[in-house]
Amino acid sequence: MVFGSEEKRSYRMVQIIDGKAISATIKEELKEKVAAMKTEGTQVCLAVIQVGDDPASSVYVGNKKKACAFVGIESLAYELPESTTQEELLSLIEKLNADSKVNGILVQLPLPAHIDENKVIETISPAKDVDGFHPQSVGRLCIGQKGYVSCTPAGIIQLLKRSGIAIEGKECVVIGRSNIVGKPMSLLMLRENATVTVAHSRTQNLKEVCKRADILIVAVGKPKMITPEYVKEGAVVIDVGIHRNEGGKLCGDVDFDAVMPHCSAITPVPGGVGPMTIAMLMNNCVESAVLSKQL
Ligand code: NAD
Repeated sequence: MVFGSEEKRSYRMVQIIDGKAISATIKEELKEKVAAMKTEGTQVCLAVIQVGDDPASSVYVGNKKKACAFVGIESLAYELPESTTQEELLSLIEKLNADSKVNGILVQLPLPAHIDENKVIETISPAKDVDGFHPQSVGRLCIGQKGYVSCTPAGIIQLLKRSGIAIEGKECVVIGRSNIVGKPMSLLMLRENATVTVAHSRTQNLKEVCKRADILIVAVGKPKMITPEYVKEGAVVIDVGIHRNEGGKLCGDVDFDAVMPHCSAITPVPGGVGPMTIAMLMNNCVESAVLSKQL
């Protein structure tokens, strides 16, 4: 019997990368580390600032506080009204910069339109920039120096490594060039010695470009845009997208059911990249506390 590609596919095991389990392991590891630090007199502390009451932001902030409580990190919550001025926000950040008890400062984005996001990010001390958004953190990543890395891309590297997926020498295509996902993701894959292509809204022949990828990382922000025509047989597909459809069900940028049979490994949505972001935020806070002790 001759197997066509359909038959061959059905005989291959596809690895569904379990971000929920991997993030839970990371949080358990951090919990132990934080407990050990406490016995030596070090308490880890994260300040979380939210301006306004955007419901999605409130959910994210709530999840971050929950994760802090689980790991044993103290969280200081600042819930400021929508009418907060830029000056008021900057002076709170400066106060937290100067507070030696605070290891990490996180300002939940997006901010109200009257506040300059870049100015806010630049005011956070690079030593407390646990989101990895400060130009100094990005610059360090770019030139291969140690520093904080944006949590979602850092989480994806952990997903790949902890799933036993080799990165070195692989063709990697990242779709998306945003400052918080696409750009840092491509720099991290480069640091891991992949051959990296960054595709974006002006890329021509996107399907052909994506078909080259051994590892395809999708951060395009378009529900189920990636179908099998974009995917090389046996590729690893990482889906960063999060969308809620009319029925309230979550889906990613990748058409999971259609693409999955063509992959060697794939992240689901939910339960793939999503849970890793907060785990890496916790990791950055712990690192900040460790570093502050060494200074
Ligand atoms: P963004 O909108 O800032 O960037 C999207 C990128 O996709 C842009 O660089 C754009 O050039 C590119 N793009 C848009 N349309 C395209 C097209 N037709 N072809 C090729 N490229 C195209 O989005 P983002 O902040 O990078 O987020 C991307 C997705 O990831 C969103 O769905 C977001 O909700 C999700 N996200 C998830 C997490 C997480 O924790 N899992 C974190 C951040 C973002």
